[in-house]
Amino acid sequence: MARFLHLCSALLFLFSATAEGTRVCIVGGGIAGASLAHFLKDYGEAAIDEIIILEKNSVVGGRMATATLAGDTFEAGATVIHRKNLHALNFTSFLGLTHKPKSSSWLGIWNGSRFVFQTLPPPKSSSPFLYKKLFPFLNSLLVFRRYGLSLLRMRSFVERTVGEFMNFYKELGDRPIFESPEEMLKWSGLHGLTKKSLREELALAGLSPLLISELVTVITRINYGQSVDMSGLAGAVGLAGSDSGLWAVDGGNWQIAAGLIERSNATLNLGEEIVAVEFKNGEYELESKAGNRYFCRVAVIATPLDEVNVSFSPPISIPRRSLQHTHVTFIRGLVNPAYFGLESESDVPDLVGTMEIPEIPFSSITIQKSYGQGDKAYRIFSRRKMEDSLLNQIFRERTETVRIDWAAYPRYNAPEEFASFVLDGLHLYYVNSFESAASTIETSAVAAENVARLILSRLLDDSDSSSNVIRAPSRSTLPHLDL
Ligand SMILES: Cc1cc2nc3c(=O)[nH]c(=O)nc-3n(C[C@H](O)[C@H](O)[C@H](O)COP(=O)(O)OP(=O)(O)OC[C@H]3O[C@@H](n4cnc5c(N)ncnc54)[C@H](O)[C@@H]3O)c2cc1C
Repeated sequence: MARFLHLCSALLFLFSATAEGTRVCIVGGGIAGASLAHFLKDYGEAAIDEIIILEKNSVVGGRMATATLAGDTFEAGATVIHRKNLHALNFTSFLGLTHKPKSSSWLGIWNGSRFVFQTLPPPKSSSPFLYKKLFPFLNSLLVFRRYGLSLLRMRSFVERTVGEFMNFYKELGDRPIFESPEEMLKWSGLHGLTKKSLREELALAGLSPLLISELVTVITRINYGQSVDMSGLAGAVGLAGSDSGLWAVDGGNWQIAAGLIERSNATLNLGEEIVAVEFKNGEYELESKAGNRYFCRVAVIATPLDEVNVSFSPPISIPRRSLQHTHVTFIRGLVNPAYFGLESESDVPDLVGTMEIPEIPFSSITIQKSYGQGDKAYRIFSRRKMEDSLLNQIFRERTETVRIDWAAYPRYNAPEEFASFVLDGLHLYYVNSFESAASTIETSAVAAENVARLILSRLLDDSDSSSNVIRAPSRSTLPHLDL
């Protein structure tokens, strides 16, 4: 803490002594860009003259977005937040946003021809009192009967991972500033999990093949659209995403980004897609598709670079990474029970999760809202587009269909490689290199907080060192994607 206080007071002194502060340009108004603006303001207000956020869309939030189906809004991207995600909890608290708890669903695990396992349907208001009281216990008993002690092993694996993640919330003085995700993960104890697949990690933890091929697979397919062969850390984070006590922001999680940007007093330029970043004369020139130019001492990329079209001069080099596309399809209508070999629509579980079988064309189907008999809102996650012909088989009625194709998260493949947070050795930063560890609202915020501290400490280093010399950007030695 003392070291950090020293950093703050040194920055204060330094920047109050100069007529002009530093302008920071952030590319991307999702949670990474928004929380970076927040932490820069929080930790280094005196050091930063202006923060400009350049966002290609007409709204902020990025992958935290809602979709409207027949007048109701539903989360279309990031849906749930873990009860131990301390940044998200803190943000929503000071922004005055309301939490909406996520209730547990009636789960059925579909193998393409039958439900191999189902939890109990939740009690209705007309259900007997005793059933309502005993429901959680009976449900746990049912799950335990199928998966046995492996369930406890899974829980302790997830708890261990969450415990190590909590290191990222230590007091500032007890937490170094990291130049790369790799350093960050090594320090926290999580790095090893990025080197093996989730399947290998869970087998080492003593989970049974039945639990891995059913419940665990259902969860990784829902949370990351990937199989248990994805890397261990992202898989563990996905498993934590099915814990109890999950919540969301009432009205949409995107409000966290909107609130943070507003509170940081950043200048927000919507509809500005950055296409070129050039370092010249000691600063970065960012050019938008519309032809506007922004000049900044510090430039931060707060979006995955894997599918965007931005050119860098001098060129940068980062490990090649492909993104998993997740197609989110909202349906207003009624499911066809015959598709699942059932007689009545009411026999179809509220959450249909699926096993890793190539013929199954979707990862999950979840009821979002019931409007009454024969009229419901559903959300489907799938790896490929759900064509009308397929939807006509799965749904008996369809009054509205909304489709979104997300470049959702990295395809996790152990051993993971990481780009540095500093792309050029100077002041070009990349928050989303951390996404190779895991992709969530909270991991973006954790990475952004570290990058904010890194920017401030490196600015201080610049002013400490002899100063007038403008260093040439160094090329990353990482071999892969040249941009
Ligand atoms: C379907 C789905 C479900 C998910 N479920 C969960 C969940 O339940 N819980 C959870 O915590 N996480 C979940 N996630 C992951 C979570 O959404 C992301 O990890 C997180 O939102 C990433 O935030 P970000 O700011 O790093 O990136 P983004 O949200 O992608 O923000 C990047 C921003 O940059 C903008 N941009 C891109 N290129 C340019 C450019 N050239 N110029 C200017 N602007 C640009 C984009 O428009 C975007 O607004 C889910 C993601 C998806 C897709």
